[in-house]
Amino acid sequence: MPPSHSSATDPWEAVLERLDDAAKLTAVDPDIHRMLRRPQRVLEVSIPIRMDDGRVAVFTGWRVHHDTTRGPAKGGIRFHPDVDAHEVTALAANMTFKTAVANLPFGGAKGGVRCDPRLLSLGELERLTRRYTIEISPLLGPDKDVPAPDVNTDGRVMAWLMDTLSMIRGELLTASVTGKPLAVGGTLGHAGATSSGVLVCVRAAFNAVGRPLVGSRAIIQGFGKVGGPLAFLLSSAGMRVIAVSDVTGAVHNPGGIDAFALSDHVAATGGVAGFDMADPIDERDMWALECELIVPAALDGAIDADVASRIKAGVIVEAANGPTLPEADPVLDERGVFVVPDILANAGGVTASYFEWAQSRQGYAWDEETVATRLRSTMETAFEAVWAKATNLNVSLRRAAFALAVNRVADAIAARGLFP
Ligand code: NAD
Repeated sequence: MPPSHSSATDPWEAVLERLDDAAKLTAVDPDIHRMLRRPQRVLEVSIPIRMDDGRVAVFTGWRVHHDTTRGPAKGGIRFHPDVDAHEVTALAANMTFKTAVANLPFGGAKGGVRCDPRLLSLGELERLTRRYTIEISPLLGPDKDVPAPDVNTDGRVMAWLMDTLSMIRGELLTASVTGKPLAVGGTLGHAGATSSGVLVCVRAAFNAVGRPLVGSRAIIQGFGKVGGPLAFLLSSAGMRVIAVSDVTGAVHNPGGIDAFALSDHVAATGGVAGFDMADPIDERDMWALECELIVPAALDGAIDADVASRIKAGVIVEAANGPTLPEADPVLDERGVFVVPDILANAGGVTASYFEWAQSRQGYAWDEETVATRLRSTMETAFEAVWAKATNLNVSLRRAAFALAVNRVADAIAARGLFP
């Protein structure tokens, strides 16, 4: 059951708002609209594990399928102390719409375990992963539900998950997860796929607003798995990355930040703070710097109405999930900022996951060039489809992306019909 909502900032409420808007914009069949307002299934599980000190700790986990009409449920698993059913349900629905925008043959899912992985030993983390996998295993399988890494989970966790499922089913199920290590059937090109997809959107957005990429200035919030590689990609494309922030602080160099030197500094010190080839700057001031592009690649809710009112950039490409609060949307619209929404901008990650799933099912590994070429093509096609919808409906890319996604899912539901 979907959670009940009281707050306007509830993530599930925010999804419903976007869904309702899309349904209204494109006159979606009210029966189908009603179906999409509920997740297909929500499984809550109890996860008892033996801790290193001998006692048993009991954790809570979830796996949610929002809609599986277009294909197996696809979505990450996160381990975080704040995870709850509201958040997982909202993220599952966003996966339905993200896979539809990229036109991948998947539905939407998400999973989570409420825990603080920093407080777990490696053995406890493995036992937690394996017991969680067993508890949600009735939902899992290459043609049913294909998890991937998310916050605080990685290839190692995916390998344990795949191994556990394979052991209990008595067959090797490499296509049952993505984001696996290469050693057990992962794909080449997975690591930088989200950043590469963001770059495709940056190019397309600059083309749309008629600005040259070369020589333009960029700001990136977050220097992790997405923001880090993106700094290299933007610099290689001829942009000047003038400011970068992370959880340790923000740094600014109007002449451009050397991504290699910053990466070395972060590897050595754990964060961008103290980087001596740029000046420290308050992150709140960073947003207001003169520049042409801002890429939020860290947190949800980073751009509120106040930040939006101070932004000078003409283009925002949302690498993070949900970085812009709904209250900021009208402010950005009014200021004429061109926003590429998260369900389009960061779809490169799930696209690479699709390629990994396809390779695992085929038992045939693609070379890196094939992965990169197909990724670029999928992202360009997705951008063009959203752009066409936005032009046709005369709305923002965010509203158009949801409209396109909801239409695709609605078409699939209508084509399959209602069972029984
Ligand atoms: P990550 O954990 O590797 O990096 C997160 C970065 O954000 C770090 O540099 C961290 O220091 C920074 N950060 C954290 N708190 C901050 C704060 N208060 N102020 C400024 N920076 C802060 O995570 P990631 O995988 O790079 O993911 C970043 C975003 O992109 C998330 O919203 C994630 O959901 C989204 N995303 C990631 C992928 C992927 O392939 N990794 C795919 C799709 C979407």
